[in-house]
Amino acid sequence: MDDYLSKIKEGILNALFPKFCVGCNKEGQYICENCKVFLGEASLICPVCEKSSFTGQKHFHYSERYGLDGLVGVWEYEGITRAALNEIKHKHIFDTISEFVENAFEVMKKDVLRFKPFLSFLYLEDTYIVYVPMFLKKEKRRGFNQAKLIAETIGKVTEKEIISLLMKIKDTSLQTDLNKEERFKNVKESFDILPDLSFIPRNLALVDDIWITGATMKECCKVLKKAGVQNIWGFTLFRTV
Ligand SMILES: [Zn+2]
Ligand SMILES: [Zn+2]
Repeated sequence: MDDYLSKIKEGILNALFPKFCVGCNKEGQYICENCKVFLGEASLICPVCEKSSFTGQKHFHYSERYGLDGLVGVWEYEGITRAALNEIKHKHIFDTISEFVENAFEVMKKDVLRFKPFLSFLYLEDTYIVYVPMFLKKEKRRGFNQAKLIAETIGKVTEKEIISLLMKIKDTSLQTDLNKEERFKNVKESFDILPDLSFIPRNLALVDDIWITGATMKECCKVLKKAGVQNIWGFTLFRTV
């Protein structure tokens, strides 16, 4: 679509479905320019021990053969980001996702030193994007999988292919009310590799909406690495600190 037509389309959509800032309710964007300042960037951590790592690259952990090689969680999960994720999950507002993914790339572009290991990995020719799947019945009930939508938007921004490799095979209970140990137990053996895959990529960026204890992402990573993927970085919009 050329610029002119897409502007008309945007104008019509804005008139029909006005956007309101999740921070201050001002009309126009989901995060207005004033509230953007209050988004707290999360410091990066090693995905294995969750201790600080400047670039998100994992430290040397000898025992973690099937662990993540790096992790980027862009914003702290609090206040505004909590409200935003709520909008995404419960009000089906997909535009919020595009806005956050675009903002995330802005953040990373501005701080190349910190995000260089992740970005250079992401842009490698043989790096593909994969997302954390939902249990199919649950996805049908909700109507969408926000991790998939985030992955697809990243795919658009980076012109990268999104692939499906995983399926959720256990309808696990909601992680919200569980403590750390219970979360790990809850997701154990709840993912599997899709049957009849003809291609297992060498490098993957694994996408989810939020990193809380990392239980889900770690479990997905283990399954993917056991299937033959060699390097996996995790990417989430939010992280609890
Ligand atoms: Zn605002
Ligand atoms: Zn570590």
